[in-house]
Amino acid sequence: MEAETMIPAPILPEHYAHLAGEPELVEAWDQEVRLRQAEAAKLGMLLAYRSRKLQTHRDQHAFARAAVEKAVVRDAAIILSATESSARRLLTSAEFLQKKLPRTWVACGAGSMDFGRARRVAQAAEDIAHRDDLLPILDEEVIQKAPAMNLAEVDQWVKQRIPELDAEAYNSRCERARAKRYVAFTHHDDGMTKIDALVPTVSVASLERELWSSARKQTDESAEGDRTFTQRMADEFTSRLQRGTTEQREAERDLQQPAPVNAKISILVTADTLAGRSNAPALSEDKSYVLPASDVRRIARDPRATHEWFASGTTSGPDGEEQITSVVPLGTGYPSNGWDEVSAWERSVNALSKTSQARFVTGQLREAILIRDRTCRADGCTRPAWAADVDHKTPHEQGGKTAPENIWALCRAHHIMKSHGLLPFPGHDPPEGDLPGRVLEHESNESG
Ligand SMILES: [Zn+2]
Repeated sequence: MEAETMIPAPILPEHYAHLAGEPELVEAWDQEVRLRQAEAAKLGMLLAYRSRKLQTHRDQHAFARAAVEKAVVRDAAIILSATESSARRLLTSAEFLQKKLPRTWVACGAGSMDFGRARRVAQAAEDIAHRDDLLPILDEEVIQKAPAMNLAEVDQWVKQRIPELDAEAYNSRCERARAKRYVAFTHHDDGMTKIDALVPTVSVASLERELWSSARKQTDESAEGDRTFTQRMADEFTSRLQRGTTEQREAERDLQQPAPVNAKISILVTADTLAGRSNAPALSEDKSYVLPASDVRRIARDPRATHEWFASGTTSGPDGEEQITSVVPLGTGYPSNGWDEVSAWERSVNALSKTSQARFVTGQLREAILIRDRTCRADGCTRPAWAADVDHKTPHEQGGKTAPENIWALCRAHHIMKSHGLLPFPGHDPPEGDLPGRVLEHESNESG
């Protein structure tokens, strides 16, 4: 099979090469690869069983064939000790991969990818299942990128990539999804109520960040130290629900004119989308959600919202990934005609070329680092950069500069690992520990 020769051998991904000296991990990796191969082989057998059964009954009436399909699913469920519905979903995903993303399917068989990650791709690719021109592109990208990504990274990537491949299919899915909005209250018998809501991302994207910041601020002031972070976020949420103004409530009733965004959200969008020349969707800075072009244009032109514009420039990194290498602050005006000048400004006012004498990372340098890093920089971590610590790789007190090349976003957990010398990162030797117990206090991620 031609595709087989193209699949990278299931070796330990390069950025985990430092683990290759640990014998238990080498053995565990070996078992992991065998497990992936076995899983793909098992699913392949179940699909083969289904084909054979359907082939045997090919001349029968459609009702009879549907019954055969159901019986096949039941038989598969018995073999897998699964429910019939989960067996059906598993077979559907496996069949999608086999037929629509054949190279990804082969990669599973070779063990360079597990079925779990491949399945996420298959589920996300349903939007473009009819696009025989796009599926091979996605298939190729998956086998190049996904073997080095974990499940969360694959999720994040396909969520962005598939709307990029077919913006129109994505936009019409957004339209259909918007019609399903609801909010439901379930009153428990212990004085608590569970709120379950499906609402447009654009209406609430800022809320999560606002609640987080506010809960974080309260820690810093240690005003009410006996509440957990989660409790503080919940309290903030309730108090916001209670003090929503009539004006906001009326605005929210009309989806064409949602209430102005009160907290900060950061979105990456192309100039073409802003100008209406393209319907390519926008992606949140932290990669956690995608917004349809129409929503982004509406926010951008909302006179009630305050905007802060940055132009970012990318270059292709060593692994072929686009990396943000320039972040140019453009101020607060909607740049209706200023885009052409941006490239000329880039070299002179790139916030990612500035060094600060200060020990703390604040202002535009901080903004630029968040835009550049987007998520915690530890391998495989998808925690948003805005919720992470902005850390000096070489600590300030050891002579480390407050400069873009020495600063990165690290979530609290990975910051602690780094402080103990336990976080190797690509292109660097494992860092020596900072001064344990001190490092986490001197850099708060609130810019205030
Ligand atoms: Zn992290």
